[in-house]
Amino acid sequence: MIPKNHPRYKSLMVRESLAAAARSGLVSLEGLAAHGRGEAFDYLIGERTTASAAEAERLASRLILSAVRPVFSVNGNCAALAAEEIAVFQKRTGVAVEVNLFHRTEERMQQVADHLAAHGVEVLMGECERLVPLAHDRGLCLPEGIGSADLILVALEDGDRCEALRKMGRVVIAIDLNPLSRTARLATLPIIDELTRALPAITEACGTEMAGDLHTLAASIDNQKFLADALREMRERLA
Ligand code: ATP
Repeated sequence: MIPKNHPRYKSLMVRESLAAAARSGLVSLEGLAAHGRGEAFDYLIGERTTASAAEAERLASRLILSAVRPVFSVNGNCAALAAEEIAVFQKRTGVAVEVNLFHRTEERMQQVADHLAAHGVEVLMGECERLVPLAHDRGLCLPEGIGSADLILVALEDGDRCEALRKMGRVVIAIDLNPLSRTARLATLPIIDELTRALPAITEACGTEMAGDLHTLAASIDNQKFLADALREMRERLA
């Protein structure tokens, strides 16, 4: 039992719930390690949404509103950490939600989809095809989902799929606390913030931001600026 007045109560509770999710198979053991890397970067950034990340979140909402076929690609960690936030985000934006796993089995795909559905998320399901040129199973996706999306929101994953999606001409928004990761460096728009802070902020901004032309907007984004801002914030905290 973690006492409520423990200074790291929230972080310990999240760890406990992810450990339970790993025991049930929803989260992979490798996903627990990925969470640890995220925690370390969150510590460095001060466990808060920086002004630069808030700007990226507003920009993300404009991109999402401007997209014709936006898809949120959700993995086990995302589902375990933020199923409720994903449901609210989907209701507000109408974004399609597709499950895509690094450690993929049909059973785990169903388990993640069921967990999301239990929290009110409408999950796209169907016959996957290898439409993203990756040898790995993350290349498998739905023709009516990621296969034909003009914008894909990814979170908490590694960089090769992001790179492949960008090469396919897709707009990619990445929520990733690590500004040095390949995902953050290769995304059209990196959001250097924690998933459960970033999603509600994007959802809220969707109520005030305006749509535009997706590709014009995407071309105007300076990805490097957001990475440099995050690294500066971290350096300042370390100094
Ligand atoms: P890359 O190939 O992009 O360099 P990586 O090796 O960092 O990737 P993984 O460890 O698979 O990739 O991905 C997990 C990423 O998600 C890490 O960069 C980590 O910082 C980030 N992350 C983990 N938990 C969270 C979270 N709750 N919110 C936002 N980002 C997170």
